Amino acid sequence: MSVTVKVDLAKCVGHGRCYELAPDVFGEDERGHCRVLVEAVPPEHEKAAMIAAANCPEDAIKLLKS
Ligand code: SF4
Repeated sequence: MSVTVKVDLAKCVGHGRCYELAPDVFGEDERGHCRVLVEAVPPEHEKAAMIAAANCPEDAIKLLKS
């Protein structure tokens, strides 16, 4: 199983929880909004990506499993 991450940038308002909780998956742009660093999440970072998605107040992060 692999996990792909998608962020709806129209929803993102820049709380920064994603890149604080999963800094290997998410970064920030110049406005503090989310920037996806790796769309295909390495297995060792899946748990952090899931925690970040669950903690996004805007529900902007989706994890797709295939
Ligand atoms: S936690 Fe959600 S709203 Fe905040 S920067 Fe990340 S994606 Fe955007």
